[in-house]
This record gives sequence, structure tokens and C-alpha cells, in this order.
Amino acid sequence: MKAKKSYRVAIIGGGPAGSACALALAQKGITDILIVEAGDYTKFRIGESIQPESLRLFEALDIDRAFLQEGHAPCYGSVSYWGSDKRGYNDTLMNPLGHGWRLDRVKFDRFLAMQAHARGVELLTNVQLKNSTSAVDGGFLLDLASKAEGKQSRIHADFVVDAGGTAALFSRQRGSCKISTQPLVCLAVRFAPKEAEKQEHQGLTQLESVEDGWWYGAYLPDDSLLLAFYSNAATVKSQQLLQLTRWRELLSRAVNTAKLIQNAEPLSNDILSFAAPSYCLDHLCGANWLAIGDAASCYDPITSQGIIKAIANGLSAADVITGQTDLHQFSQSIKTMYRHYLTMRSRYYDLEQRWHKSPFWIKHHSRISH
Ligand SMILES: Cc1cc2nc3c(=O)[nH]c(=O)nc-3n(C[C@H](O)[C@H](O)[C@H](O)COP(=O)(O)OP(=O)(O)OC[C@H]3O[C@@H](n4cnc5c(N)ncnc54)[C@H](O)[C@@H]3O)c2cc1C
Repeated sequence: MKAKKSYRVAIIGGGPAGSACALALAQKGITDILIVEAGDYTKFRIGESIQPESLRLFEALDIDRAFLQEGHAPCYGSVSYWGSDKRGYNDTLMNPLGHGWRLDRVKFDRFLAMQAHARGVELLTNVQLKNSTSAVDGGFLLDLASKAEGKQSRIHADFVVDAGGTAALFSRQRGSCKISTQPLVCLAVRFAPKEAEKQEHQGLTQLESVEDGWWYGAYLPDDSLLLAFYSNAATVKSQQLLQLTRWRELLSRAVNTAKLIQNAEPLSNDILSFAAPSYCLDHLCGANWLAIGDAASCYDPITSQGIIKAIANGLSAADVITGQTDLHQFSQSIKTMYRHYLTMRSRYYDLEQRWHKSPFWIKHHSRISH
């Protein structure tokens, strides 16, 4: 692990939030920035749909042209069976910014981190923050562990940005707690579709609500088809949905989603399971630190807003660190955005009223969701 002893800004986590923050700081002329990333951008990451508005953020970070050269798949909107069996469309035809994208997430996260590195940001991969304490003369002491080398080291940072995703380790070490509502579990399987099926559906995301949750289907840039079921932990447990046969039984009852894989084989017999929580931290910042992206607040994937929010938070954090806004304003704006998100989420789930006795929908309807 080749780290210096001290940095002006240490960013924990090199996902979209952390890399965007580093890029924005570098753009403002701040040097001496470190990103500490636990992974190495090789393992599958979920979360791939981004809206056309993302382009504005890429422009702000001056990476729009480089992003377009990366060849992520276009996404022209979504088809949904939500509230009834009637097909609904939400397309990007009229959007002045054009289409959105279906990202190769590993490639995208690596791209952002490499753009930051190319602008002088130091990037440590396979290195994890383990512990953090306030330094006597200001800033923080961070204990880092390198997975590959098995080495530990201690560095000092004047300012720390927690962009460590849902782990939010640094913020929790400062005493912050997550105020959660309605966590979901995502159970995903990737399929290899036949050519004819691809041509019919590529470029559109598909959503379908069912009695115990909802299905999501999307083609990834590697041409695989990702099908994911979103529900709550109790349903996953009681219906044993971590078993592929049970998951497929449930899928066969979601007729519109099942059609997508009529002739397709799963790429693996393992179900990929992901927590999809919704929360906001009670304390988003303190003296010389703040949290951004999923570390600060986490949205239901139905919104497809997580990546855009992470990047926007990264830009706002850079404004705080360079003194253009203060910590209070920053914290208020994240909390306000979170309240808007809760309202939007309720509106969306309220559109589905077919299963009044389903525990999933009872929980998600606005009467009791706040
Ligand atoms: C099932 C699912 C589907 C989703 N679908 C979408 C979608 O379609 N569109 C969308 O916009 N959003 C989606 N999201 C949300 C989106 O993935 C997140 O909001 C986004 O990744 C947040 O970015 P981030 O940088 O804040 O956190 P992350 O992307 O989680 O990055 C955090 C980084 O911190 C690193 N890290 C964690 N702890 C430490 C530590 N102690 N030391 C060092 N590094 C550490 C991790 O390795 C990781 O790279 C989805 C989420 C889920 C769960």
C-alpha cells in the first residue's frame, strides 16, 4: 500500500459518489486528495439504469465526451405493467437530452475512478477503512488495511468524505444512525437471451408489479438479460425465494416478465441477492467530515435515482470543502431531497391498488409508509 502519511481530503469509497467528489475537487484546483476503495473494479455490481439528465452532471465534471466514448448501451425508457395488466410506456422520445443509458456498472465505476486518477487524485484499491479517530490537532486518523498485502497503515486527513455506500462505516463511527423505511431485497438472475428476443426488447426497461412485490427486466451492455424480483425479507424467507426453482415458479406467474426469457437459459444457477434499503442518516456531517451518496441517503431502486444522486452529492460536497456552501446547507439539501424521494416513492406505489390484502402493498401504500 503506497500511501502518504497525510492528505488534505480522504474519500472513503470509490463508487460514483466518491469519484465524482474527487473529480469535482480536482476541477476546483484542490490537490492532495486520496480515494480509499475496498474493491478493485472487477466484481459484478448491480444498478445500471441512468436517466438522460446524467449527461448534465457529466458535463459539469467535464467527462461527458469521455463517457460517450465508453459505449454503454442506450436506454430509451421503460415499459410497465403497474396498476393493471395494460402496458404503459415512459419513454425518452421527447427529452431534449435524448436517451438514458444502461451501464456496464463495473466499467462505469472504474471509468470514473480512473478519470479522477488522471487528474491527480491518488487511488488506493483493495484497501479498506477499518477504524477512524479524531486527531488532536484537527482532522482524522484513518486506519487502513490492504487486502492484497495484508498490511495496515495509519494516515491523517484534514477532511474526510464518507462515500462508502450503505456500509457508511466512517459516519457510523462518528455516531450517525440510519433512519430507515421499508427496506427491500433484490433477487436477480442473469440470462442469455436468443437473438430475436433481444431485438424486440433491447433498449427498454420492463417493470411488472405482482402480489408480493415487483419484477425488473433489463438488457445489460454484455447482452445478458437481468431479471430481478424486489420484495421484503419476510416474503423471501417464507417463500424460500433464494432457491432458483422457487424463484422461477414465482416468475412464471408474472406473465409479462416471464415472456422475456421464454427461450433463455440462466447464466448461473445462483441467485444474486442484494439489500435495497431506504434511509437517511440522522447526522450527515460534522466538523471536517460529511457523507454523500448511499452513505448519506439511500433510495428504492424503483426510482433509478441512486447513481445520479451519488454524483450530484459528490459535486455538492466539493462546494462545501472549498467553502462555497456550508455544512448546514449541504445537510438540509440532502434531507429535503430525501423527503421529496419519500413522496415520489409513495405516489408510485399508490398507483398499484390490486392487492389490498398483500402485506407487501399494505406496507408500501402511503397511508402508513411515513
Ligand atoms: C438492487 C439495486 C438496484 C439498483 N439499481 C439502480 C439503477 O438502476 N439506477 C440507479 O441510478 N441506481 C440504482 N441503484 C442504486 C445505486 O447502485 C447506488 O445508489 C449507487 O451505487 C450509490 O453510489 P455510491 O458511490 O454512493 O455507493 P457505492 O456505489 O455503493 O460505492 C461505495 C464504494 O465504497 C466502497 N467501500 C465501502 N466500504 C468501504 C471501506 N470501509 N473502505 C473503503 N471502501 C469502502 C465500496 O467498495 C464501493 O465501491 C440500485 C441499487 C440496488 C441495491
